[in-house]
Amino acid sequence: MHDTIASLGEFGLIRELFLPLQFGEGLGEFDCGIGDDAAVLTIPRTQQLLTTVDTLVEGIHFGSDADPFLLGQKALRVNLADIAAMGGVPHWYLLSLALPASTPLFWARRLAEGLAEDGQRYRLSLVGGDTVASRSGSITITITLFGLVGQQRAVLRSTAQLGDRLLVSGSIGDSALGLACRLGRIVSPQQQDDIDYLTRRHDLPEPRLELAQMLQDSSLLHAAIDISDGLIADLGHLCNQSRLGAQLHVDHIPLSAAAKRLYERDGSALEPLLWSGGEDYELLLSVSPGALEMVGHAAQRCQVTVTDIGVVVQDPGIAYYRAGQPMAPLSHTGWTHF
Ligand SMILES: [Mg+2]
Repeated sequence: MHDTIASLGEFGLIRELFLPLQFGEGLGEFDCGIGDDAAVLTIPRTQQLLTTVDTLVEGIHFGSDADPFLLGQKALRVNLADIAAMGGVPHWYLLSLALPASTPLFWARRLAEGLAEDGQRYRLSLVGGDTVASRSGSITITITLFGLVGQQRAVLRSTAQLGDRLLVSGSIGDSALGLACRLGRIVSPQQQDDIDYLTRRHDLPEPRLELAQMLQDSSLLHAAIDISDGLIADLGHLCNQSRLGAQLHVDHIPLSAAAKRLYERDGSALEPLLWSGGEDYELLLSVSPGALEMVGHAAQRCQVTVTDIGVVVQDPGIAYYRAGQPMAPLSHTGWTHF
């Protein structure tokens, strides 16, 4: 019989697993993290606070067999992608867990190990949280992340400009394909390597913090959003909030080599999944055409590809183009929760 979290108790869990996730470097001399009623954090005068929250629920966002090491990292990284999309630098996070009392202790330990690794990687400090018993039997992981951005330097969704080029980082659709492979909705006779790559992309997004910060530092971004609901839905959000529209060249949407191999086999049937499947956590950027070259150089330095997929136009909504010709809009355009 394995030990459960109940054997350690709430305070035991905090002391053994979560206190070590509070790295000193994120806290100033007069700051205070885990252990008091609230964390006390110093915001430099020149900065504004960014805050974002995301919840992963067992049975909705992940299966009961998911690796807690990766779950912790994903819970952090979906938030990191939001901070990246604002052009900010992440610093602190709060962790709230709802766990059945029967949760194995090693599960909680693996979760903490994943958080520790990413905490080091992204220089984040856990500064507080909450652990409650889940009576429903399912696990819920909520992370609230705090970051900083220079005064009035946050990159918003609502400030795209007419004539801007629309760029995406990395590749689109891998995560949705990975999930579809895992759920058996796509049966692939192809190499296991491709399936491993795609499911990895689903499990572990790569927040493009370095690229976003570099572009923000050089004032190259007019607007940005991270692609969580699917490229088309998030492009729609950016356009609506900027009160403009977009021409989207669907044949320019970047696909990974693994996604391309599936696309070559299944063709356009795969397009709704690729473009609207969601959970890419790549960045969609709106930049002035004159800045394209500099953005390209910055991306090269960060070893991230950026691809020009369209242009911001006056007419609201998204106009779709393939091979330079207008095409009919997609009927299914993105993930919604309800
Ligand atoms: Mg977002």
